[in-house]
Amino acid sequence: MIVAKQLYQLQEVDLEIESSEQALAQLARQLGESQAVVRAQTKLKSEQQHFEELGRQQHSAEWEIDDLVNKLTSIEEKLYSGRIKDSKELTNLQHEVDGLRVRRNQLEDKALEIMNQVELSTTSVDTLSNELKTLEAEWHSQQQQLSTKMEQLETTLSDLRHKRQLLSAKIDPQAIEFYQELKKQKEQAVAKVGQGICHGCRISLPTTELQRARGDSLVQCSSCGRILFLP
Ligand SMILES: [Zn+2]
Repeated sequence: MIVAKQLYQLQEVDLEIESSEQALAQLARQLGESQAVVRAQTKLKSEQQHFEELGRQQHSAEWEIDDLVNKLTSIEEKLYSGRIKDSKELTNLQHEVDGLRVRRNQLEDKALEIMNQVELSTTSVDTLSNELKTLEAEWHSQQQQLSTKMEQLETTLSDLRHKRQLLSAKIDPQAIEFYQELKKQKEQAVAKVGQGICHGCRISLPTTELQRARGDSLVQCSSCGRILFLP
């Protein structure tokens, strides 16, 4: 009876150890990189690249406009200088000026469109980087909470393992060995008995079995094979 009680206490500690170990493993899985943060970083990076590309397009459009304006100015100067008398040449120059003006207007429209896109992209970059900052802050505080919880669990576990050592030291080694073997098959090797019923398999135990279980030797349930413990 005493041994059954000791084994039951050992089992209770073992169950606590197992559940703490499971909780610890679950927390450990949550440690590390956050998918949400990685996704936000990728989105921000791609928007930043888009922004830089727009900047390049903006510059090249501006250069092109500058070139065109210079060309246009020099032809207009020539056209209106009064130096050219030949009417055919004047007509050709006028055509050239008209063509360059059309091209300049087109380029100016394009530059304006790029400017609008740059503005939109600037807003996007700001929004995305704020979102990323928020996510990173959340992730950081979650990680800290996780670490704290894990440390607490480690302490609990080491206390429980110490408790188990103290308990085991008082129990007959053969009984512990028997308990361990049974535990491999049944998960819970010891079953409490209440109102004549084995709590391991919910079977009513015969009176003779109950009487034997009250004695000093270990008695197994005739139905499920667990060690019977009568509190
Ligand atoms: Zn049973």
